[in-house]
Order: sequence, then C-alpha cells, then structure tokens
Amino acid sequence: MPRFRTGRRAGHRELPGEARPAVLRAWRAPTKVDTLAGPARRVIFEAAMSPAPAAPANVPYRGRFAPSPTGPLHFGSLLAALGSWLLARHAGGEWRVRIEDLDPPREIAGVAEAQLRSLQAFGLVPDGEVLRQSTRGGIYRAALDQLLAAGDAFVCHCSRSGLAAAGGGVHHACIAGALRTDPAVRLRVPPGTRIAFDDLLQGRVEQDLYAEVGDFVLRRTDGCWAYQLAVVVDDAAQGITDVVRGADLLDSTPRQIFLQHRLGLPTPRYAHLPLVLDADGRKLSKSLAAVPVDDDDPLPALRAAWRALGQAPPAVVAAGTPAQLLDAALRAFDPGRIPCRHALSLAALHNSDVIAAP
Ligand SMILES: [Zn+2]
Repeated sequence: MPRFRTGRRAGHRELPGEARPAVLRAWRAPTKVDTLAGPARRVIFEAAMSPAPAAPANVPYRGRFAPSPTGPLHFGSLLAALGSWLLARHAGGEWRVRIEDLDPPREIAGVAEAQLRSLQAFGLVPDGEVLRQSTRGGIYRAALDQLLAAGDAFVCHCSRSGLAAAGGGVHHACIAGALRTDPAVRLRVPPGTRIAFDDLLQGRVEQDLYAEVGDFVLRRTDGCWAYQLAVVVDDAAQGITDVVRGADLLDSTPRQIFLQHRLGLPTPRYAHLPLVLDADGRKLSKSLAAVPVDDDDPLPALRAAWRALGQAPPAVVAAGTPAQLLDAALRAFDPGRIPCRHALSLAALHNSDVIAAP
C-alpha cells in the first residue's frame, strides 16, 4: 500500500481558530471555487520531465461522480455524490455521472441502474449523458497504444507471486523467466519519480512513485482495463476540471497525475472528502454497515450527509422533499466548512437514521 506524507494527519481534528489551508481560506472568500486554479493545480515532478498542459483557469467548473457498480449506493457514496454535486453547483458548474463498470468479475447485474435510480431519488440529476466505461474499450486501447509507441508502457509477463518473492511486489524490472499467454501492460515509472500535489481538503500530498508504487498496471492479465488508465482518459474526455471523491482514492492520485503527464492530458484539481468509518473504525464500504441508502426515504440520509460535510444542520431542516433540501443546501453551502480530515466516524454523526434497516 503506497504511503503518503500529507500536510494533515489522518484523524486530525481541527481546533477552534486553527489555521486552515490557504485553498480553504480562499474557499471562504465570496469568489467561486474555480478561482483556486493556481495553488490547487500546482504539481511538482522531481523526475526530469516536461510539465503536462494545465487546463486554462477560465475553463468552467465541471465535476463528476463516478461509482463502480459493485453494490448499491451506501452512505459513503452518497457523501461523495452530494459533496461533488454541491461543489460543482456552488461554482456554477456542471456535474457529470460516470459508471465505472470495468471489472465484470466484481460487478453485480442491475446495480448500475439501481445506483442511477438512487441518485434520481435523492434529487441528484446529472448534466449530460451518463458515461459507461464498458463502452469505451477502443478509447482506452488508443491511449495504451500511444504509451506503448512512446516506450512509456511495456508488456509484462511477471506474476504477482514472482514479484512478491523478488522483494516487496513493487515492479521495477521484469523478472519473469517464461512468457505467459495473458501478459499485462504496465506503465514505466523511472527512478526518482516523485509526485506532489495540493489537495483542496487533505493539503499537501507527496509520494515517491518509483519507490512506493513502481511500474503499475494499465491492462490487467485478465484483459480488463486498469482503473488508473480509464479514469485518467475519461476525466480528460469529459473535460472534468475538479475531481471530488472519497479519501480512499487519495493513494491513486499520484499515479493518475503521472499518467496525465505521460498522455499529455491536463491535471484537474483534487478534493478528497473524508472517509466514513463505522463504529469499529472500518471503511463503510467494507463493513456490514454498508447497507444501501433508502431510496424511499431519502431525507434522513441527505441531512446526515449534509452534516458530515460540516454544514449547518438548521439550513436544511425545513425541507420536505429532496429538491427542496438541495435548493436550501445550495444556498447555505460553505465549502470552507468541509472537514479537512482523512476520516469521519459514522457513530459521531449521530446518524442511526442514515441507513435503512438491514
Ligand atoms: Zn514485469
């Protein structure tokens, strides 16, 4: 698991009057989020390489929510959906939805449709067509061919067990003694590649991509496209300027930034929302508490997600429908109140009313 040095510790609790990151102080200003382009998009490579083109600062905000159809929406995914929707609408921007259905062995039939019905029930209506990654193999193939032609990607016959036995499982050079019929394709990460970026919520994040991740997979041995490649290609294709998602994806972001540079694609701004943990400190999606949010009774979960985003509860208390609640939420929304933490406890939200009874 890649390790990070961030400007803020996991579980960090903000004290009254404590200094907040400059980007969040800026969020408090009466300007739109998209004025933060400068500090938020700063990316530092310590490897010798040319910088990727950054999206122009005057490009309108476009956010997204991108669930994988591996289970119905739970409270953690609702938090990411509402947080990304609020930030996009607050900035006067668009909010797109993308179904990340790239991993058939892990997917459940009908779940993508159920997720879209849940968003509808919660009043979170996307702009434009919903993009499905399962329809985009040709686009990913073209990106992979570009990387192979440039020598940035290579066919790899190594096995996971072989790499583990050779020391830690991080791939720096092929060690396979025999060719396999189902090789993977990896992106080459040269020695000295370090990635640093300023997350709008988590602060400074730095990673030694060479030492901690190594050459990473773009197409798996089972022929599936790797998440890292698809998400980078699709964020660029959809013109996403701001990626707002759960902090469980923070450790993927340096790989995605590196891949953006290799493909000559712009780097969006990133804001990683706190993870929601259950009372035992487990990630919600990994625990028994990950029961679906209730489409037939969306208001309690919406109110709890609003509280989890650090917003003032009275602002939405009078709303009688999801649409009314979202209208009130948008008027009262203050991005500067979103907790700058890596995780939140579900129990601390007093939200026994959040999830449907099992
Ligand atoms: Zn290899």
